[in-house]
Formats: sequence, C-alpha cells, structure tokens
Amino acid sequence: MTFYQRLKAGWANADAIAFDDGVVTLTYGELDAATGRAASALLAQGLEPGNRVCLAMQKSLAQIVVLLGALRAGLVVLPLNPDSPAEVVADQISRTGPVLLIGEREDGWRARTESGPAAVSRCLDADPARPHDPLHATEHTDPDRFSVDDEAGAIILFTSGSTGRPKAVIHSHGALFANTDALRIIWDLDASDRLLHVLPTTHAHGLIVAPMPILLAGGTVVLRPRFDPGDAVAWLPRVTCFMGVPFYYGQLLQHPQFTAGAARQLRLAICGSAPILPEVREQVEDRLGLPLLERYGMTETLIMTANSPARNRAGSVGLPLPGWSLRIRSLVTHETAPPQEIGEVEARGPLALPSYLDDWAETARKTAPDDFFRTGDVGWVDTDGFLHITGRADDLIIYAGLNIQPSEVEAALVAIDGVVDVCVFGVPHPHAGQAVMAAVVSAAGTTLTPAAIRAELIGKLPATKIPKRVYVVSTLPRNAMGKLRRDLLRKAFEHGTL
Ligand code: ATP
Ligand code: MG
Repeated sequence: MTFYQRLKAGWANADAIAFDDGVVTLTYGELDAATGRAASALLAQGLEPGNRVCLAMQKSLAQIVVLLGALRAGLVVLPLNPDSPAEVVADQISRTGPVLLIGEREDGWRARTESGPAAVSRCLDADPARPHDPLHATEHTDPDRFSVDDEAGAIILFTSGSTGRPKAVIHSHGALFANTDALRIIWDLDASDRLLHVLPTTHAHGLIVAPMPILLAGGTVVLRPRFDPGDAVAWLPRVTCFMGVPFYYGQLLQHPQFTAGAARQLRLAICGSAPILPEVREQVEDRLGLPLLERYGMTETLIMTANSPARNRAGSVGLPLPGWSLRIRSLVTHETAPPQEIGEVEARGPLALPSYLDDWAETARKTAPDDFFRTGDVGWVDTDGFLHITGRADDLIIYAGLNIQPSEVEAALVAIDGVVDVCVFGVPHPHAGQAVMAAVVSAAGTTLTPAAIRAELIGKLPATKIPKRVYVVSTLPRNAMGKLRRDLLRKAFEHGTL
C-alpha cells in the first residue's frame, strides 16, 4: 500500500477541513479529488512507480497536493527548494537523477534544467494558484492503479547541511507511515486538532513530522507560507498544535502577543530539529503556561524519541518511540555506557537501517556491526529512559584532554542578563588542542562587552570552560532550518572576520 492510501484510511469525514491556507480551504474530499487529478496527470506522462520526480514548488496547498498525488501514484519524490542557489539545484538533481521536474512556470525551470549537470529530460508546469488541480489534469485515469510495497521508496530528503555537504536519504512508504502513526498516537492527535504549520516543506520536519500525523488523524493543517512571528501569533488563537525549531520560539518570545491568552486553545507546543537553550524553553513555558515538548530525530531516521503531555521530562528529548532502541557509547571507553553517562547516541529502529542514497562509505561508517545507527549526537539516558542530547560529537571541544560540551557553556552565557543568543565553538589551540570561543548577541539597547561577559562567568563555570574570547555580534549564522552554523563561525574566526 502507498503511504497515501494508509493516510486516507484515517479520513472518516470527507467534509472536514484538511488544509486551510488563510484564503483557500480543502476538505478531505477535495484533497482526495485533487491528489487523484495530480496522480493521473503524472501517470499520463508515462511515469511508473519507482520513477523519481523532482518537486520544485514553493510551499503552498498546490505543492502539498502534487506531493501527495505523486506518492499516491507510487513515484519517488525529491522535494527541492526552488529558491536554492543554482549549485545546490545542480548537486541535488545530479545526485538523484529525477526523470521529471515539476516546477512553477515563472521560475523558468525548463531553461534552468535544459543542460549541464542538472539536466532533467522533462519539465511539467504546476500552477500554485490552482490547488484543486495544480497540474491541469486532462486525463482521468485511475490514480490508484499501481500498488507498491511498503519497502518501495517514497521520498528523497537531504539533511540540513549543518556539518557539511547535505546527505541524501530515501524513505519508504512503510517508514513514512510507521513514523507518522507513532507520532499520531504519542501526541494523541484527533480530528479536532488544528496545527499551525510555518516550517519549510522541503525538510523532514515540515514535510513529514509536522503535517502527516495531523492528516492521518483527520485534523486540519493551517499552512502559512513561511515563519513570521507576527503572522504566527495572529493564527495562534485558532490552533491546538504548534511545531517549530528553537529559533522560531526565540523569535516568538520577542513578540508581546506570544502569550497564554493568544494560545488559549493550544494543547501541544512541540520543538525539535536543533537544541533549545534551557532559558528559552523556560521562558516559552512561562509565557504559554504549557510544557514545551521536545522531540529528537534526524533526516536519516525520522523521529526517534519524543516527549508527550503524558510523559514529559523538561530538558530531555523524550522516550524512544515504539520499536526504537537506544544506547550510549562512551566517548572514553567506546563501550556501551550505563545510564547517566555521556556518550554518542546509537539507535536502532523498527524498519530498514538508515542509509545514504549515494554514499555507501558514509553508510558503513555510521552503521555499527549489530545494525545500530551512529547518530553523531552526544547525550545520555536517565534512569527512566529519557534521552538528553548535549550536542554533536563533531562540536565537542577538547581542551587539554577535557571534553567540553558547547551546550554547557552556552547555557551559562544565555543566563547572563542582556544575552539573547549564543554560539560556542572550538578553534585550534597550539598547546591545548582546542580553545573555547563564544559569539554572543546582546539584547537591543544593551552594551555588553566581551570583558563583562567573561567576568560574569567566573564562579559559574570552571576556568577551563570560560571562553578564551567572546565576540559580541549582531546575528549568528543559521541555515534554512534556523540551525546554527558553527562551521561558519569557525571559518570566520580562522579568516579573522569575526
Ligand atoms: P547534516 O547532517 O547535513 O550535517 P543536520 O544533522 O542538521 O545536518 P538534520 O537531519 O536536519 O541535519 O538534523 C538532525 C540533527 O538535528 C540531529 O542529528 C541533531 O544533531 C539535531 N537535533 C534534532 N532534534 C534535536 C533536538 N530535539 N535537540 C537537539 N538536537 C536535535
Ligand atoms: Mg546530520
């Protein structure tokens, strides 16, 4: 069965609203008709299950309809952000080899993909203004005439590129459904839930984790084109769920209307994709009068652990989802570590082992002999089984043989009055291996100096963990998912441009 067919099994009421973008709504009946037209239009191109198609549309109802239509037809979808630089487009297309590209006419995809490494033999125009029929279907073939196995590929996703070149991952129909269903259950989603969706729809978070469990439950996805704090607080009173990355929550805190009053119907505030500073989490919880539920996953695995209203531990990323096993590999002995000890997180899920589409060497490097996946993240499991993430192995700073977690230094920095954002990173040091450095953003109107910030840390952190240098900057570099780019700060330091 396709992922789409499994989703559809949850749609009891054809008149319930599946999507609302603030202007147009699509009921489940309309959504099913629209995805049927999109699937027919794609099959009329002579495509067959397993063929790869690149979906290069802006976030919109039409984009989601084409995505679901392609999954319904059994095609393998590569979502691509049309605003990506030309070299990213070329890289993603040449590595995945789609046979068809679906783009918006005004973006000039035909000309953009005619030749060169990003050549795609065919382009199909999609009309974002026609969510009921974005591909102008002329043939009305049976959109469900092909059935595919659970193991068949459904979607190709690229990792965020926080640590280097993004890696390509393929997920099967079965894997998408298993994760979607587990999240629906753990968050107790039902048809009365309304999700405020502000995330980009080319990454696993915005494409799978946020909308799909709500759709499976028969609830409503309020689809906004992008994250804007003013827009988000205007919609907040009308929804029961919100999902965001830590950066969004930090931005929302700056908005006076981000209050419990505005969030009066909200029952789930969920956060993930990056570590949240404890200060930010606490402030969000104070403002909303709700726990901020963290969950943890990777593009490679989808969600592995989650908190829920019933089982939440502040500061942790939750318990493993059903079918997931976690273990911690000591950074010192490389053996499996007991509870409370910090090490690299390894995980094994209920379905196929994560693998990279075009990089077997990297797949092998990340796979332990007993098929546990080496996440590259560092953390510990408490005695009740909740996972706590402290950072990435690559970001650990080794100062005179001592492992320093940037997150620990960051927590101390952000607790200083007037500090609103921080990033701690290591740079080569001639004697100590690496030295701790910090970039800090101070609140508007404050005049924090590096010396004053360092002085504040004395007594709060051991001397070894106090940054050798603190840079006060206006913003920190982040990627499209709002994730910190520590690598860019390291480079800026090396080039003397910080
Ligand atoms: P790349 O793999 O390309 O360098 P990336 O790891 O940021 O980029 P993603 O797959 O989008 O790409 O992100 C997964 C990573 O995000 C995890 O490995 C982890 O480091 C981080 N992450 C996700 N959720 C959380 C969370 N709740 N708390 C802390 N970190 C998180
Ligand atoms: Mg990664």
